[in-house]
Amino acid sequence: MSGLLVVGLLVDTMPVRTMLKINHFDGVTRFDLARTFAGRGRYWTTAYLVDGMMMDTGCAYCAPGLVNALSDETVVRIVNTHSHKDHIGANGHLQHQRDGLEILAHPWALPILADPRGKQLLQFYRRMFWGWPEPSLGQPVADQALIKTEHHCFRVVYTPGHGPDHLCLYEPEQGWLFTGDLFVGGWDRAIRTDYDIWQIIASLKQIAMLPVVKLFPGSAQVLEYPKRELDSKVSYLEDLGEQVLELHQQGWEVKAIVRTLCGGPMLVELLTLGHFSRRRLVLSYLGMNDEYLL
Ligand SMILES: [Zn+2]
Repeated sequence: MSGLLVVGLLVDTMPVRTMLKINHFDGVTRFDLARTFAGRGRYWTTAYLVDGMMMDTGCAYCAPGLVNALSDETVVRIVNTHSHKDHIGANGHLQHQRDGLEILAHPWALPILADPRGKQLLQFYRRMFWGWPEPSLGQPVADQALIKTEHHCFRVVYTPGHGPDHLCLYEPEQGWLFTGDLFVGGWDRAIRTDYDIWQIIASLKQIAMLPVVKLFPGSAQVLEYPKRELDSKVSYLEDLGEQVLELHQQGWEVKAIVRTLCGGPMLVELLTLGHFSRRRLVLSYLGMNDEYLL
């Protein structure tokens, strides 16, 4: 039995404690969810409730807490921004609990919702922080489809890159944009193996064109009038991509490009056993795959 498997089994038997924070933003309820280690929440993810509709449902470990927090709320629909396990964790619980609850997601996400264990790897660090979601039954939602709630009308915007099945929800009357994991602040030096950096840039450009008053991300803080942040992020990623391509054309090896443009080793590379890496960012710019074993 490998050491990693032993540690994985130990993690599965550890008592699970979680943390839940609730904040309100003029009709939008925000739930920040995390498993705790040593009394502190780690690897926070966010879900939202608007007008009877949940946007994402956190990770599996946090599902009981979220279900409990929603016990007095009307929830008739869930929309998943994508199929990562920290966004679908309470789908199954809520669907079992509430007759007729509708779950909408990108069509490519549906097989993962239906069989989270079978259809998507759960790397060690994600198993530790998120756990395995219960299966749920979703319906496909098309790009540009309109989703009506009692007081709002949301437009679906397909935004691949963070994953192929990623979407955002836009409410034009209020200027709300729910971005899942498409937009994260800061200047990326590493990405995950399944990201497509050029698609991320194209999707960010697409949402940067929308008149947005409030951007509700899948983690991190809510942003008001986020166009400047979105444009800055696009510029940074495009500039970095141009530098990567230029050095590659000059014959530089990937390792040297990584060292020169992405800086030194990162803690996240260690903690995720390389699932997040600077190398993967450079390879994604170059349209290359890496041999990655886990
Ligand atoms: Zn994600």
